[in-house]
Amino acid sequence: MIRFGPGGNPNDFYEQGYKSTFEIMKWLFDMGLNAYEYQCGRGVLVQEESARKIGEQAKLHDIAMSLHAPYFINLAGEDEEKLEKSKMHILKSVEAAKWMGADRVIIHPGSLMKDTRANALDRALKVFREVCDDNDDAVTLCPELMGKEGQLGNIEEIIALSNVDERVIPTIDFGHLNARTLGALNSVDAFDSVVKQFIDGIGLERTRKMHVHFSRIEYTGKGEKRHWTMEDVQFGPDFNHLIPVLYKYEMEPIIICESDGTMAKDALLMKEMYKHANHGN
Ligand SMILES: [Zn+2]
Repeated sequence: MIRFGPGGNPNDFYEQGYKSTFEIMKWLFDMGLNAYEYQCGRGVLVQEESARKIGEQAKLHDIAMSLHAPYFINLAGEDEEKLEKSKMHILKSVEAAKWMGADRVIIHPGSLMKDTRANALDRALKVFREVCDDNDDAVTLCPELMGKEGQLGNIEEIIALSNVDERVIPTIDFGHLNARTLGALNSVDAFDSVVKQFIDGIGLERTRKMHVHFSRIEYTGKGEKRHWTMEDVQFGPDFNHLIPVLYKYEMEPIIICESDGTMAKDALLMKEMYKHANHGN
């Protein structure tokens, strides 16, 4: 089964008068969604009590939880002190994830720090291996494919990070990939070849379970600029191009929509598109 849900709380949730994240689980369930990504991009600030309340509601409404770790984590940093802090923020994310019953933590690998890709990746692999060794089996670490050339996290780098530990599952952000390749993700074949690269790199089983971020993203020559909604069809990528590939490889990812403000509505749209796709002929 493929699960669909939003990354963070959409505008219409607040417009309907809701204030607390624990209330969104029933709201998503009633809509027909079954995944949710809790955003800790600016830091792990959630208290244990509210995290546990969110987790209870998620469980009650069959919402698969994931948690997005802080954006300022950089596994490729050159400074020992900052690397220790990055590790600490990942472990804090894992702890908060456990409180809310989230079994995936999504991590941005970091930036190149004006160094070569190879050196930055070497540093990141070493630090990530230490983090994986410190992590138990309750939470899966999911390094994310990033949207800018200056960021660590192209396909090859995410495969390398995923191969640090067989428990790691990649996060493929197709909007990011389209942005960093300046629009190359524009056909079913293009999506198919990405998925094939992962099957070759990490095996079919983990590729099938991949974590997915999907939204239309504007880019410049340097990559990602901003997230748009499913209605903003002038920006790619197109979810229709992914659907046949999901069927072909019998994939069962968790698909999180990161549209600008409409992420729940758009997640539902993707779910319906997937369901109604006339696959196989
Ligand atoms: Zn992300």
